[in-house]
Amino acid sequence: MERQRSFDREEPALYLVSTPIGNLADMTYRAVDILQEVDTVFAEDTRTTRTLLDHYGIKTPMQSFHAHNEMDKAETVLRTLKQGHSVALVSDAGTPLISDPGAKLVQEVLKSGFSVVSVPGANAALSALVASGIRPHPFLFYGFLPQKSGARQKVLRGFTHSSYTLIFYESPHRLQKTLADMHETLGNRSVVIARELTKRFEEIIRLNLEEADTLPELKGEIVLVVEGASADRAFTESDLVEHVQTVIDDGESEMEAIKKVARLRKIKKNTVYMAFKKHKSQDNQE
Ligand code: SAM
Repeated sequence: MERQRSFDREEPALYLVSTPIGNLADMTYRAVDILQEVDTVFAEDTRTTRTLLDHYGIKTPMQSFHAHNEMDKAETVLRTLKQGHSVALVSDAGTPLISDPGAKLVQEVLKSGFSVVSVPGANAALSALVASGIRPHPFLFYGFLPQKSGARQKVLRGFTHSSYTLIFYESPHRLQKTLADMHETLGNRSVVIARELTKRFEEIIRLNLEEADTLPELKGEIVLVVEGASADRAFTESDLVEHVQTVIDDGESEMEAIKKVARLRKIKKNTVYMAFKKHKSQDNQE
């Protein structure tokens, strides 16, 4: 067990500082203080962060930190922490690590026994979720879906029976194809397109997936919030396995039980079969 006392300022720490997602006024007082106090700000794009630091009169030195130099920079961060100085990590926008680099750095810093402190603020996924009008939780944040349709559909199929609200990041030029794949794999559901949040052209479009092909071309940054499966489609694999087992316990053969559960739940026999087979092979491995 490890216990971190985040406000013990004697100890240096890595601060994960959230920054605005488009509206400079969405910076917190604490974020400004921390960025002013730390030894170095590690930034995904130093030019983008320069605008922010200049706006708030923050003179702290910056270094670049992105997906391709994460491990090298982790060494620099650790060296700084070992010298007794705190550092901050910021991404181009929003909360670091959320569809942004930093996860490996956090692991390295924790492994070396230093504290990691979150300084919360803007985040596109949660901002979209709460304004969407779709049930806010339980939710599942996925981030960016794969760019190729086959791989994207495969991921989406994994959510067919989940009642969780789903949140995705998407680029405007893939939007139409992604919505079409969602319609094909998830059926007709409510979807909310939250575009350019916190910026001058913020727009929130609430529609059904079946209407998606009537959308005009959209530009800017986009979050998609998708309604979870309705109660009659929502189930987990363990629900299915349990149901099949109950029918077997009542005296049916395994195949008959699988057929019966599929019939009762109005789902494909193969879905029940696969869930049951997976469960059995896991049992055999134990
Ligand atoms: N770390 C960020 C966060 O906390 O939200 C997300 C970074 S990710 C690289 C960038 C994606 O987030 C964009 O492509 C878009 O999908 C979403 N995003 C960021 N800012 C947004 C905004 N103002 N409005 C809508 N979506 C936004």
